[in-house]
Amino acid sequence: MSTSLETLNPFRIAQDQIAGAVERLGLPSSVYEFLKEPQRVFSVSIPVRMDDGRLQTFVGLRAQHTDVIGPTKGGVRFHPAVDLDEVKALSIWMTFKCAVLGLPYGGAKGGVICDPQLLSAKEMERLARGYIRAIDPVIGPDIDIPAPDINTNSRLMGYMLDEYRSLHGRNAPGVVTGKPLELGGSRGRISATGRGCAIVVREAADRIGLSLKGARVAVQGFGNVGSHVVRSLQALGCKVVAVADIRGGAYNPDGLDIDELARHAAEHGSVAGMPGTENITPEQFFSLDVEILVPAALENQITAPVAAQIRAQIVAEAANGPTTPRAAALLAARGVLVIPDILASAGGVTVSYFEWVQNTMNFYWPEEEVHEKLERMMVSAFNEIWAMRGEHVTTLRDAAYLAGVRRLAAAMSARGWI
Ligand code: GLU
Repeated sequence: MSTSLETLNPFRIAQDQIAGAVERLGLPSSVYEFLKEPQRVFSVSIPVRMDDGRLQTFVGLRAQHTDVIGPTKGGVRFHPAVDLDEVKALSIWMTFKCAVLGLPYGGAKGGVICDPQLLSAKEMERLARGYIRAIDPVIGPDIDIPAPDINTNSRLMGYMLDEYRSLHGRNAPGVVTGKPLELGGSRGRISATGRGCAIVVREAADRIGLSLKGARVAVQGFGNVGSHVVRSLQALGCKVVAVADIRGGAYNPDGLDIDELARHAAEHGSVAGMPGTENITPEQFFSLDVEILVPAALENQITAPVAAQIRAQIVAEAANGPTTPRAAALLAARGVLVIPDILASAGGVTVSYFEWVQNTMNFYWPEEEVHEKLERMMVSAFNEIWAMRGEHVTTLRDAAYLAGVRRLAAAMSARGWI
């Protein structure tokens, strides 16, 4: 089959991943039948008053994959490429992230089709509030709990929480996570996905005998996730030599000054053009001579032809679904260790869980406690998946799906369904 025929539909990819694990574990096909589709999918229209007085209507989506383990959980992305199959796939991947980390949630995902670059801060606020009004009947601290994702942040989560409070006339901080600290957010949430990714990179490097001191790193994406991956890996002694975003890349073989890079990106809207760096193309980015490569942007960035160029020893998927199945097979055949998204990007939802727990107790932990608990949970999930990989002689991704499906099937069985 040629690469051009490879499925890039994330929903089909997610379904195939479940099917493979169900078969390998010898579970009844009813497990696959139940898990292959989200339990609920909503499409809403969101009328928003624009700054110029016009009314513009946006399409919003929310997929709730399964509540077999607990309420559903997952972010909301604002992006022009949001579509139903993407949101459905992302909701499935959230289920697996939660299962792999042992969180008492199923997965969900939401999105609004929009281009945030064309919206003012006030329009973004009205859109975030409108989205919550539209999905209000199907969310709640024990039902479905939104959070940040691509192009959404703690500020927008604050507006969402405020809107929910106005609708219900009572405070319910556990209805959304990734909130500002002032509204019941958790310390350590903003950096959590990046931190979690660095923890599993450290564990993986240890297992393959790769020293992180001076290990060269390239990160694709400099948003909620990428900007913190970079800092956490640097704190472990790695040398970050390249960062790329949608407009270009900044490369310096001697290492990048991350504070400078952050200032440049804030001012110019991109890392590209940072003084003292080479502006590299996406093609050059993926073929860089580095030890560690971290895709922290969108799906399907590493296709088979891209995978053939990769020289890294470890690929840590801080993004959701960045590697196509053919690319993943190619990387496995070439001996590149891929830490799958459902493990490498699970730090964010793990600290979202801590936030929700703190909201329930109304008792808030110091940052160190959050870091420690995240460290413990990420390492224990990594160890479990690493052991499964050895036991089943398979990739870390397949091992993670085996662990996830096993946990979901156990919950189905405990409910008397199978
Ligand atoms: N959007 C993040 C993710 O893809 C976080 C979700 C959450 O915290 O619920 O994992």
